[in-house]
Amino acid sequence: MHDVPDPEVPVLSIVDLGVFRKVEENEGTFDIYITPTYTGCPAMKAIEEEINRVLKREGISNFKVKTVLSPAWTTDWMSDEAKEKLREYGIAPPEQSTEEHLKALITGNRRSVKCPFCGSAETRLTSAFGSTACKALHYCDACKQPFEEFKCH
Ligand SMILES: [Zn+2]
Repeated sequence: MHDVPDPEVPVLSIVDLGVFRKVEENEGTFDIYITPTYTGCPAMKAIEEEINRVLKREGISNFKVKTVLSPAWTTDWMSDEAKEKLREYGIAPPEQSTEEHLKALITGNRRSVKCPFCGSAETRLTSAFGSTACKALHYCDACKQPFEEFKCH
């Protein structure tokens, strides 16, 4: 599963993201449980295809990919290593836990997102949606670069 990349952020595996939940052996068949990062995220179909491709390459064909929607995926499932990889890739990682993020949304005290390139907090949101619904677009006033943020949810 560490070899299965996330189709949207290829530097991250589905294990890094926390999308891969568990594998269970069931009468000679492996049930692979995955949880989408976003309900209806179009990447899920691609992830399933990637799992198929990687396992078939390893000569494994007795498996089924199962989607688990509850509990819902949260950015809290993303490992610290994954967040560091995101930053190196030029995407601001989610920094807050989902609960803190929800509180900030309700109170309107949303922290500015740190620029993944220079680390400055002098950034502003330019679009709530980036190249995919899971990301937002920001602009860094310090280094004058636009960047994407992997949104907390
Ligand atoms: Zn910057």
